[in-house]
Amino acid sequence: MISENLDEIRSRIEAACARSGRNTDDVTLIAVSKTKPVGMLMEAYEAGARDFGENKVQEIAEKYPRLPADARFHMIGHLQTNKVAQVIDKVLLIHSVDTIHLAERIEKEAAKRGQVVDVLLEVNVAKEESKFGFYPEETEEAVEKVRIFPHIRIKGLMTIAPNVEVAEENRNYFKKLYQLYVDIKSKNIDNGSMSVLSMGMTGDFEVAIEEGATMIRVGTGIFGSR
Ligand SMILES: *Cc1c(COP(=O)(O)O)cnc(C)c1O
Repeated sequence: MISENLDEIRSRIEAACARSGRNTDDVTLIAVSKTKPVGMLMEAYEAGARDFGENKVQEIAEKYPRLPADARFHMIGHLQTNKVAQVIDKVLLIHSVDTIHLAERIEKEAAKRGQVVDVLLEVNVAKEESKFGFYPEETEEAVEKVRIFPHIRIKGLMTIAPNVEVAEENRNYFKKLYQLYVDIKSKNIDNGSMSVLSMGMTGDFEVAIEEGATMIRVGTGIFGSR
């Protein structure tokens, strides 16, 4: 089942890339495995998945040692400052840096370990009350502040688009994040470190790819409903 789902998502990624003249290799599929047991992650692993998205530090701590060493974990959920130390040595990328305060804590913990942590800044493009992240107009300044930290590398931007019935309704939010990303890169505010745009989930990943996503985060479409 998981293997068939993955095949289907992959062919939809290929089609979206073909439609928008993009290379399939430029889009990384992150299998969002939050709440799912290790057995299901292993099924996805056997079917070729290597990137897993989780939103709880506790779940990453449990699953990380039980997957093969070449599996990569992505922290995609809101991260509390007091849990930073438990997660920075287990994840490839933190997608959800949503305050300067959190970045400061990551810097401090990474410095202690002599490690450089790759992060994305989360942008609340639609300005939803229920969501975390910087507003679009705050993002440049946030990049300027975070880029100073020697133990953090800003790899790009992430957004969680609104939960909509029709994916097309999110196209403008994806466009807006892409534009913000391009603007920041063109002004070289990122010191040239940015190459990732994490946007699109089960309901809207094709639109996100058409608008420039380089990482998509798909849970339900691979593992079924939660
Ligand atoms: C749960 C989650 C996803 C995956 O959502 P689906 O709709 O199941 O694909 C993607 N991104 C984040 C940040 C999530 O928390």
